[in-house]
Amino acid sequence: MRFDIFSVFPSYLNSLRLSLVGKATEGGSIDIQVHDLRDWTEDRHRTVDDTPVGGGAGMVMRADIWGKALDTAFDADLGTDSPRRVLAIPTPAGYPLTQEICVDLAERCDQIVIACGRYEGIDARVASHYEKLEGVEVFEFSLGDYVLNGGEVAALALVEAVARLVPGVIGNPESLVEESHGSAGLLEYPSYTRPLDWRGESVPAILTSGDHGRVARWQRDEALRKTALRRPDMIAALEAADLDRRDRAALGQHGWYWPKKAEIGMHPFKPVAEIPTNTDAAGDYSELAARTFPDACPKGMSDADIQAFIAKNLSVEAFQNYISSEGWVLVGVRDHDGCLIAYSLCLVPEGDGAAGADEGAPVDAELADGPRIGPLVEMSKFYLDRPWRGSGLAGLLMTATLQELASATRSWERPYVWLGTNRGNSRAQALYTKLGFEPVGSRSFLVGEQNNEDIVMARTLDVTY
Ligand code: SAM
Repeated sequence: MRFDIFSVFPSYLNSLRLSLVGKATEGGSIDIQVHDLRDWTEDRHRTVDDTPVGGGAGMVMRADIWGKALDTAFDADLGTDSPRRVLAIPTPAGYPLTQEICVDLAERCDQIVIACGRYEGIDARVASHYEKLEGVEVFEFSLGDYVLNGGEVAALALVEAVARLVPGVIGNPESLVEESHGSAGLLEYPSYTRPLDWRGESVPAILTSGDHGRVARWQRDEALRKTALRRPDMIAALEAADLDRRDRAALGQHGWYWPKKAEIGMHPFKPVAEIPTNTDAAGDYSELAARTFPDACPKGMSDADIQAFIAKNLSVEAFQNYISSEGWVLVGVRDHDGCLIAYSLCLVPEGDGAAGADEGAPVDAELADGPRIGPLVEMSKFYLDRPWRGSGLAGLLMTATLQELASATRSWERPYVWLGTNRGNSRAQALYTKLGFEPVGSRSFLVGEQNNEDIVMARTLDVTY
């Protein structure tokens, strides 16, 4: 790989003689030629710039000087029949430079010619001229959304980033595998070395445990956490089908979710919780509620009874009432397309709630570690659409619901929320246990002709679980 760098400050690039890049040059893995652009000027003052045509501040670098200089680089014999050459022009108006692009350049280029601009940059015809030249590809690139005085720092960055990917430049190629912006699409986990204790800060104990599996998992969790905090754009670009159960748990803590069975091309996203205030939303809620209600019904409940319940309690009119009436708290979660994917519906009794939410409220129940429960909010419905069960989204819906309930019962002394789950639905009981509920009793009720028995579970309204 050969680099030709043109600059009006060639000594700026002396640092390329140092460190790994310097060693690689000495060893012959790469060849770096630095040129002084002023060597192609013909006037006494060695002028490379002129005033902008059409007006404007500053000076622009002349195309004719650049043309003469760059032609010499592209005429160089690289010892191959049809060498792949790139003209890289640093500019804050360029395409963002990424690791993916650097990998591509390292893999398929024989020569990278870098034209370092100064002043207001280089006459635009230089890029368009070389774009038309056979065998040359032009790449106008930016280091980031800020403006430097000149292209030399960008040239140093490009050479460092590309050269270290050229075989033989880095002694241990293994160290390239797990880096930030690598194939995992994540930022790297934090690294530590000795001393293990320094100024009151210790290296995380797990890293000295010798348990390679747990260390690898910790590193992956940390990489996910750091990336979620600093580069949400990278999380949104991950292929959800490549993420495992533990990734799901780690990313769920930062608000990222995807359906239980992710199709190829699906990415994590941040669902948004809502408290509907407009009755126009009732249709969405009724549709989701009617679709999901049968899934949690006791085995043996007749279809007619289920349909009668839906018609009475989960119709559009019923949801219009839940949205507009005091006392009902309806919370929904929508996906990135605005589709409703989960909802909860709670009944908050009037006053201080001491009377209990409804006739079925287990007012005589007790929490294992506390005094008699009360006042009580009833969590009447808590449903996720089918593809979202087992996705972790229940945590998001529960947090949003508890927050809303906490604000609705702010004046209550010790508010609790209770719910009934069918005795035979052990999956639901396991989920509610995970979400901080504990069994406090049971209740019987009739649906149509059939007697049903629910396990009653309750929890406080603080949002830790
Ligand atoms: N007038 C130009 C504009 O607004 O787009 C800025 C010119 S800048 C002062 C001078 C030179 O610095 C550019 O020609 C380019 O070589 C370099 N440069 C400045 N910011 C850069 C960035 N973010 N990435 C790459 N090169 C940059």
